Amino acid sequence: MTTIAFIGLGNMGAPMAKNLLKAGCKVQVFDLVEEAMLELESYGAIVTKSVNDAVKQANAVVTMLPAGEHVRAVYLGDHSGGPGLLELVEPGTLLIDSSTIDPESARIVAKHADDKGFEFVDAPVSGGVAGAAAGTLTFIVGGNDRAFDRAEQVLKHMGKNIFHAGKAGDGQMGKICNNLMLGILMSGTCEALNLGIDNGLDPKVLSSIMLQSSGRNWALELYNPCPGVMENAPASNHYQPGFMSKLMLKDLGLGLDSASKSQSSVPMGALARNLYAFHNAAGNEELDFSSLFEFYQKNSGG
Ligand code: NAD
Repeated sequence: MTTIAFIGLGNMGAPMAKNLLKAGCKVQVFDLVEEAMLELESYGAIVTKSVNDAVKQANAVVTMLPAGEHVRAVYLGDHSGGPGLLELVEPGTLLIDSSTIDPESARIVAKHADDKGFEFVDAPVSGGVAGAAAGTLTFIVGGNDRAFDRAEQVLKHMGKNIFHAGKAGDGQMGKICNNLMLGILMSGTCEALNLGIDNGLDPKVLSSIMLQSSGRNWALELYNPCPGVMENAPASNHYQPGFMSKLMLKDLGLGLDSASKSQSSVPMGALARNLYAFHNAAGNEELDFSSLFEFYQKNSGG
């Protein structure tokens, strides 16, 4: 039986770990939040007290953490001098980081892993909490061919489409491009729906029209930001995440950082990033990112 250490059981990590359990893997979990681990225990996971305990006798480690600083601390060690998991895992253990982080952090962790003889891939995901629960995530993987082939055997239990984007860090770059576009599309979708409502249209009717027209996009199709239009969307559940606004702001910031390094023009991405910065500063950072719809409503007097 494959033994997998799963670290980070938040909105995404918890359903992903459940799918590994469903596939018959032995899953050893660790999160800083105890309740998150106890929920997984009821699905058959083994709860541990530390990263050290979680990785014992694991064939593979999957991490699903908020940002680059958390990933660097978990793999390389934190400021308190505690060892990183690269010091703790047994020889031959495959390392998979599925968090969305800056490509530079992914490359640094990959280099340290390689120096110690471990195979590491950056494997960020797309598909949201619904995709994580359904096991239909898209994985965008960076790493060498052998590491990719090994990672595929684990990732296939949690996702449907597994892409090899290129070398270490390239998975993160692919994901950053995707989320830059998602932030822009969500902003545009909120804007168009709000304009229609302000001018007397029913948002359900307007959504149906745009879904069959050239404005069709992922946010409109699967994640409508207007409350009451789509029963299962976070908008119809008081914008409970889902994908938190603060994580979208982080991802748009990663896009702008990358653009600055490559001197690429990203005017739409910069605008979307600033919209999310205003929205988060108004106290919405823990709400789902589709709550940006409320920003438009307030500002148009709706
Ligand atoms: P989250 O904040 O819900 O979960 C992160 C978890 O990591 C938390 O439970 C936290 O306690 C845990 N954690 C933090 N530091 C830790 C440490 N040192 N040791 C152990 N556990 C630690 O975030 P999420 O929504 O699950 O997102 C995770 C990652 O996936 C992020 O990088 C995000 O950008 C990305 N992502 C999220 C979505 C989404 O729809 N939520 C979609 C695609 C990608």
